[in-house]
Amino acid sequence: MQKIKKIIIVGGGTAGWITALNLLQKTFCDITVVSSKEIPIIGVGESTTGKLAELINLKSGFVDIDEKNLLQSTGSTYKIGIKHSNWHTKGKSFYSPLGTTAVNGNNYPNENYDLYRIYHIANELGLENEFISKCMSNSKMPFFEHSNNFHIAYHIDTYKFGNYIKEQVLKHNRVSHIEGIVDEVNKNDKGVKYLKVNDKNITGDLYIDCSGFKRLLIDNKQFKSYKDELLVNRAITFNIKDKVINNYTHARAMNNGWMWEIPLQERKGCGYVFSDNHITPDNAKIEIENEIGREVEIQKDIKFNSGRIKNVWNKNVLSTGLATGFVEPLEATSIHMTVIQINHFIENYFTHEMNFDTQQKQYNEDINVIWDDIKDFIRLHYISPRQDTNFWKDVSNAKISDSLKDRLNIWKSRMPRYADYGRNNFYELGNTLWYQILIGMKILNKDIALKELESFKLLNYAEELYTNTMDLNNQYFKNLISNQQYYVSKK
Ligand SMILES: Cc1cc2nc3c(=O)[nH]c(=O)nc-3n(C[C@H](O)[C@H](O)[C@H](O)COP(=O)(O)OP(=O)(O)OC[C@H]3O[C@@H](n4cnc5c(N)ncnc54)[C@H](O)[C@@H]3O)c2cc1C
Repeated sequence: MQKIKKIIIVGGGTAGWITALNLLQKTFCDITVVSSKEIPIIGVGESTTGKLAELINLKSGFVDIDEKNLLQSTGSTYKIGIKHSNWHTKGKSFYSPLGTTAVNGNNYPNENYDLYRIYHIANELGLENEFISKCMSNSKMPFFEHSNNFHIAYHIDTYKFGNYIKEQVLKHNRVSHIEGIVDEVNKNDKGVKYLKVNDKNITGDLYIDCSGFKRLLIDNKQFKSYKDELLVNRAITFNIKDKVINNYTHARAMNNGWMWEIPLQERKGCGYVFSDNHITPDNAKIEIENEIGREVEIQKDIKFNSGRIKNVWNKNVLSTGLATGFVEPLEATSIHMTVIQINHFIENYFTHEMNFDTQQKQYNEDINVIWDDIKDFIRLHYISPRQDTNFWKDVSNAKISDSLKDRLNIWKSRMPRYADYGRNNFYELGNTLWYQILIGMKILNKDIALKELESFKLLNYAEELYTNTMDLNNQYFKNLISNQQYYVSKK
C-alpha cells in the first residue's frame, strides 16, 4: 500500500492546471506543478464541453471560482453548441445544441429513451428548431433571470485561461509551482523514483504526466494509432477579428478536412485541420482565404498522430491531457477527456492509501474504452455522401472499427439506446451527442424510427412533446438578450 500525500504534476498547460484544480477540489493531498516557460504549451484548444464548466463550478470549499469573473478576465465566452457546415452536403449546415431539452415521461422502453430525437428522425426534421439551436442561429444567450439551468460550456483563450486557473489554485497552501525543466526522470521497478529539476531531486507519492506530446514520465512505447480511421493529421491556426460573438463553435468541413472558428470576446481563434497527404499547408492557407474571403496570417503549424497510449496509469504514474493521446479537435474531446480521466481516477479509484498494482488494469481498460468510443464518434462525422475531393473519397473508404460497424448494423433495425455506447458508458458520453450527428448526417432510417414510436404507442406523445416544446421556445425566445449585449453589459 502506498500513502498518497504528495502528488507531482509535470506540465503547466491546460491539462496541468485543470488537473491541479481537480485534485485540489477532491483530495486532501499536497500538489506540486512543475513546468518551464522555456518549453511552451501547445497553445491551441479553445473549444470545450460541459465537463470543464462542471469542474469550474464545483463548490468544494477549497477553491471558489467565480465563473463570470473567469470569463470576463480571460476574454472567454459561453458555448452552447456546434454548428456543422458542409459535412453532409456542401453549402448545408446542421446544429448540434449542447445538452438535452426533453425527456421521456414514460418508463417504457426505458426512462432515457430519446423519443424526442427519434420523432425528429421519423419526420426528417433537423434540430434547428430546438430552443438552443434557435439561440445559436439568432445570437441570443439562453439565460433568464429566474433560471440558468442550461447545459453550457466555454470557448477559452488557452493562455489566459491557464494563467487564471494557475493563480486561483496557487492561492491555496496545498498547491505549489516549481519553474524549471525536468532534466532527468529517474525510474525503478516501482515507477518514478525522483525527478531532477533545477539540480534538485523532487519526489512524490504519485506523479501525473501532463507534459503534452513529450510524454515525459508515462510509458509511451505502446501506442494505439487511429490513423487508419481518421485521416487528418495536421493543423494550421490563425486569428481573425470579428465584431460578432457567436455562442457556438463553427466546424466547417473543407475540401481536405475541416476548419474551426471559436469566438472569444476579442478575437476568433481559428484553424484548418487537414490531411497533409491531400494538401500542403501553403495550399491549405489558400483554401482558407478563398473560403472566408480574407487574408489570414498563419500562427502555428502543428502535426499530430491521432491515437492514445495503452496504459495511462502505470505504477506510480498517471498521464492525462495530450500526454495520454489525442483524437483530433472535432467536438472538443481533449480537455473533456482530461477532466473525465482525473474525475474517474478520483471518484472511482483514489484513496489516501492505495494499492496501485491491483487497480491499474481495470482503470486502464475503462479509460481505453472511453477513448475508443470517442474515436468512433469522431469517425461517424466522416460517414458522408460527399465525394467531391480525393480527401472525401478516401475518408469514405477509410477503416471503420468493428465497434462502430456493429452499432451501425444495430441501428438498421432499431434506434440507438444507452447500451450501444462503450462497455463503460461513464459520464453519459452517448446518446445525446451521437443522436445529433446521426440526425445531421442523415444516417438513421426514418421508417424504422416511425415504426418504433408507433409500436411503443409513443408517436402521439412525441408529437405533443415536440409541439409543446416549440410553443414554449417561442414564448421564451423573445425575452432573451443578444450575445453582444450580454458581453458588453458585463464589462
Ligand atoms: C490542432 C489542435 C487543436 C485542438 N483543439 C482543441 C479544442 O478545440 N478543444 C479541446 O478540448 N482540445 C483541443 N486540442 C487539445 C488541447 O490543445 C490540449 O488538450 C490542451 O491544450 C492541453 O494540452 P497539455 O496541457 O496536455 O499539453 P501542453 O499545452 O503541450 O503542455 C505541456 C506542458 O509540459 C511542460 N513540459 C514539457 N516538457 C517539460 C520538461 N522537460 N520540464 C518541465 N516542463 C515540461 C511544458 O512546459 C508545458 O507546460 C487541440 C489540439 C490540437 C493539436
